[in-house]
Amino acid sequence: MNKDFAHTPDRFLSHLESLFSVTLQDAREIMFHFHEEMRRGLAGERSSLKMIPSFVSRPKGTEKGNFLALDLGGTNIRVLAVELDGKGNATLAAVSRFVISHEAMGGSGDTLFNFIADCIQSFFREQHLGMQQACDLAFTFSFPVEQRSIASGKLICWTKGFTTSGVEGRDVVALLAEALQRKDMGFIHVAALANDTVGTLVAKSYADPDCDMGVILGTGTNACYPEKIARILKYHCSGASAEMIVNMEWGGFDKLKTNRYDQVLDRASHNSGLQQLEKMVSGMYLGEIARLVIVEMIEKGLLSLPAFSEAYALTTEHLSNTAQGQDLFSDFGLAHVSAADRQTIREICRIVSTRSARIAGAAIAAVIAWMDADLESSHTVAIDGALFEKYPGFNNNMTDMLLDVFGDRAKRIKLYLVKDGSGIGSAIIGAVAASARR
Ligand code: ADP
Ligand code: MG
Repeated sequence: MNKDFAHTPDRFLSHLESLFSVTLQDAREIMFHFHEEMRRGLAGERSSLKMIPSFVSRPKGTEKGNFLALDLGGTNIRVLAVELDGKGNATLAAVSRFVISHEAMGGSGDTLFNFIADCIQSFFREQHLGMQQACDLAFTFSFPVEQRSIASGKLICWTKGFTTSGVEGRDVVALLAEALQRKDMGFIHVAALANDTVGTLVAKSYADPDCDMGVILGTGTNACYPEKIARILKYHCSGASAEMIVNMEWGGFDKLKTNRYDQVLDRASHNSGLQQLEKMVSGMYLGEIARLVIVEMIEKGLLSLPAFSEAYALTTEHLSNTAQGQDLFSDFGLAHVSAADRQTIREICRIVSTRSARIAGAAIAAVIAWMDADLESSHTVAIDGALFEKYPGFNNNMTDMLLDVFGDRAKRIKLYLVKDGSGIGSAIIGAVAASARR
């Protein structure tokens, strides 16, 4: 490392800026490699993009009825009751949110699925709903699943820090149904299994036919889009419909330029060598990247702070709050922090979060260009997740990347927040599945 930049915080920060930059040239390389990996994934060749068929196409907007949805994210569980009016309106009639416990994330499969069943039970209690009426539930499960039908799929591998034993390789719908039986809730029928990206895309496209991408920017990150079945070479389909939504599992994309902080983070993670894009973009990791930078600056004497030695103690929420001018230091027991140090930390947060948004923007550009090389049509990108929703300037940084890549034509792309989209969309998928059974 060149010693020059180590002399002052300002020099270090400009070094950091270049280390974390995503230039137009970088974006073009990301797009090129995305297309390579997408092609390989669809053909069933080795690829860091799994390109998983979802068994779902976009809804017609005429789906109707009341449905339950269960959305298992990386941090939260939401149980939702959704009303579909058959005219493109999906209303959230009730929702209860729960934070996933540490025991559930790292214990046995039974502990996790019992915990989920308890959340459903609490939802019924909180919303004063009767407990015996037969009902259909759609299960949004935000992890890589090898889907076998609309209501079954095997977990391929955990991500986002989960290490729950005895679930990988098993059908998560069957595990959920067994837990519901154990807790006397056998009246709930698990009608559909959906990935959160697929739910988000379906939720928005229920009313907006221009919507052709679903993206998650929360604890983890992922995306999906409708693909022509003829292009999904690994999927030998006898069905009639022309398109099927493909869950890309883009968090696994591994053709990005990493720096020393990314490498340290990866080596210390539960899933070293995997989920490269997710580790550079998603909410679970941004705080930790910033912390690793802060620790290095403290070691170099460029910040005079005593704390920040505990891994993952600095969260993306802290970064986000700092960007809004709030104090993060009180959470670390630090009362006297100089104005200069505060400013340095704000800059680190800006640099780390801007890279995240620009990589997400380049990845969206890649998928849109795959579907519409000359950007001749309008595209609505449905996005769910607290990182996109709450991080100040995140949306603008993604849009800047799209403008860099597509120039003026980028105006044809609309990034649209679909709050609770992942849950609402799976209820719509559940409606399609339930009507197919009747
Ligand atoms: P899930 O990923 O469980 O579906 P969310 O979409 O709510 O849940 O995302 C939660 C993640 O979003 C947290 O793990 C955190 O990384 C990030 N996050 C939480 N609050 C904020 C915030 N205020 N600003 C930016 N990111 C946030
Ligand atoms: Mg989510």
